[in-house]
Amino acid sequence: MKKTPTKKLIIANWKMNPGTLKEAVNLFGAIKNLGKTLGHKGIEIVVCPPFPFIGALTDKVGGKVFLGAQDLFFEKEGAFTGEVSASQLASAKASYVIVGHSERRRMGETSDLVAKKVAAALTKKIMPIVCVGEKERDTEGAFFHVLHDELLTSLQHVAKKDIAKVVIAYEPVWAISTQGKGAMAPNDIAETIIYLKKVLADKYGKASAKTKILYGGSVDPFDAPEIFKAAGVDGALIGKASLSAAKLEKIFKAV
Ligand code: PEP
Repeated sequence: MKKTPTKKLIIANWKMNPGTLKEAVNLFGAIKNLGKTLGHKGIEIVVCPPFPFIGALTDKVGGKVFLGAQDLFFEKEGAFTGEVSASQLASAKASYVIVGHSERRRMGETSDLVAKKVAAALTKKIMPIVCVGEKERDTEGAFFHVLHDELLTSLQHVAKKDIAKVVIAYEPVWAISTQGKGAMAPNDIAETIIYLKKVLADKYGKASAKTKILYGGSVDPFDAPEIFKAAGVDGALIGKASLSAAKLEKIFKAV
């Protein structure tokens, strides 16, 4: 029997952009139109705006475009100034949440904390997008140990039955926001993603076959065609380029 190809997942991580609600609404609308006009069956788009804009975009979700958040807190409710819970995100129709982004790990977020956030997201049926990535690539392959530890520690509370409800974003820290220097070489991306799939398979068995693994790190319209051709790449997490509908259009076409 012919295998149906799974949809590629594209995550638009707007980070702390754009500056105003009006710009956010316009950009979301432009991305939604792209989804409609390109008519891709093989793509799912998740826009992750800053928290204050999520509520304003709740009613605009539809078609191929979903809403995600850039973080969450693991507690259910209470005196946690500045934090946002999984149930608050769910009530604003966020169906995905990025956790453990390297920009948050740099501020002190550990894999143990990420693991609690992953568990909290799953209780509200929000798909966590768990970011892992080495800070540097050495020639001896020590970075594989870093990835192994970050991945399994971040997933420590995820049971076998839930592993396909988690998305992994492989984001080599040194390749994020490289200001035009480009993404990692597609062969290296493929090799690392295959390694991560093996780590998951060793722990979760066949249940992990449906867990998507994305690549993130300076994906732009030029690199995208080769990246999507690389073995095992189930999609991409895109920062800077996701602030431009024109760039996203080219990336969607590459899919
Ligand atoms: C990111 O936000 O994780 C990211 C990959 O950003 P950029 O595409 O700008 O490198």
